[in-house]
Amino acid sequence: MNLHRDDPIVAIATPAGRGGIGVVRLSLGCWSKQEIAQRFSAKLLGKGDDFELVPRRASLASVHAADDAVIDRGIALLFEAPHSYTGEDVLELQVHGGPVVLQMIVARCLELASSLASSLTARETDAPLETMQFATMRLAQPGEFTERAFLNGKLDLAQAEAVADLIEASTEAAVLGAQASLSGVFSDAVRALVDQVIELRALVEATLDFPEEELDFLEQSDARGRLARVRNALQALFDRARQGALLREGLTVVLIGRPNVGKSSLLNALAQAEVAIVTPIAGTTRDRVQETIRLEGIALHIVDTAGIRELDEVGEFDDAHDANAVERIGIARTWDAIAKAHVVLHLVEASSINATVDQETSVEDADIASRLPAHASRRTVVNKIDLTGDQARVVSALENDKCAEGTPRKSRIYLSAKTGAGLDLLRRELLAIAGWQPSAETGFLARERHLTALRAARSHLEYASTHADQGDRMLELFAEELRLAQLELNRITGEFTADDLLGEIFGRF
Ligand code: GDP
Repeated sequence: MNLHRDDPIVAIATPAGRGGIGVVRLSLGCWSKQEIAQRFSAKLLGKGDDFELVPRRASLASVHAADDAVIDRGIALLFEAPHSYTGEDVLELQVHGGPVVLQMIVARCLELASSLASSLTARETDAPLETMQFATMRLAQPGEFTERAFLNGKLDLAQAEAVADLIEASTEAAVLGAQASLSGVFSDAVRALVDQVIELRALVEATLDFPEEELDFLEQSDARGRLARVRNALQALFDRARQGALLREGLTVVLIGRPNVGKSSLLNALAQAEVAIVTPIAGTTRDRVQETIRLEGIALHIVDTAGIRELDEVGEFDDAHDANAVERIGIARTWDAIAKAHVVLHLVEASSINATVDQETSVEDADIASRLPAHASRRTVVNKIDLTGDQARVVSALENDKCAEGTPRKSRIYLSAKTGAGLDLLRRELLAIAGWQPSAETGFLARERHLTALRAARSHLEYASTHADQGDRMLELFAEELRLAQLELNRITGEFTADDLLGEIFGRF
């Protein structure tokens, strides 16, 4: 959003459609606390020049058109800066919820604001001209009220995201989690971690500034012990955030394996039991490439990679060939899903499981393998046990159980996509892989973005720990890793945040 961040803005705040009540919300930006704000509401409500709304008190009022005709009667509420949602003067008009009524009121606000701004620019020379020129009201962008709340320090970034999550929540657990994040449970935990890191940094950096006292700093200050405590606290927060992110975003499960091992059959088998809540991704010509099912309230996005190579066979984007465009979107989504995979299920056939080491390794198509995230959990699914008479079961991988190449062997789930035997085992295994504990208290909702930052902070602390093991001569590197860990944690609450990230977050409201 590269628009001016202190323009007065206006928008219909209630959803599209008809209802008893509709709300038009204005956040007055640089008009806040200025005479123009008071004049604006007086004129809008058809009152004399000296009329003033009493802040935080509901006033019965009529909204007047330019020719003074009444557009609607309702309630006007003024929240004065900084005690408002956005931190600016906020005016809320609660009127009747008809789309045309609401649009007429918004149009009237824009028109009135523009005539007031230009008359003031012309008359009042003491106001800086540039400010007044920019001070014309405009329509709010999606998420802009909440973005203002963030920019004005009313909410941090994780809390602002929680506002969107609360609105989008589709389960009770998600509502409670979003509410907890909104009230700052997650942000407070992140800040507590940041405080611990800062404390440690202060210690180290003081030593670096006074090198004569550096002797045996790490021993003297219990820096290693402190670092270990921060790392434990971070891991605990990560585990909670992971549950919170699962609740919000679900788990992406990618199916890979040679043609005909039964990937589509497994996808269908998992989806069929849940037909009522299956939501195929709209707009793909190859349907059933991606299905979402729900287990214990967690969304599992299951992605079949069969046909992903078709990308080469699809023509370039071309308006004349809509099908190509749609096809490409479908494939692009599959690649996106692969890049976000939490779990990779590698399918093999029961009849060949013992014969072929290469099933374990070479089948993972290099393209797909290179795009899978390193932290994705991997399992082997041994399909078609109905043909071999194998029992449906889970065989855990043992630590020392390695393939010929020395890579750890994955746990195997024996099942039949055709008969359905073993599907329950797979479902349970998926939840276990997700780290989902039905009884555990999740506490708050989190996003993949937060997990990424926590992971990055975790590795910086790990590096710091390695440096600490090498003694005081590595102090500078130790300090640097602490600084980087702090930076990553600050990203979560938005202390240092790039503009494009803000655009992405608030644009999705
Ligand atoms: P994909 O190419 O990996 O997606 O494999 P498909 O799901 O298209 O399956 C290939 C063939 O194997 C089809 O004829 C399926 O009916 C068959 N198939 C899949 N799963 C099973 C199974 O568990 N048992 C048996 N007997 N056949 C299966």
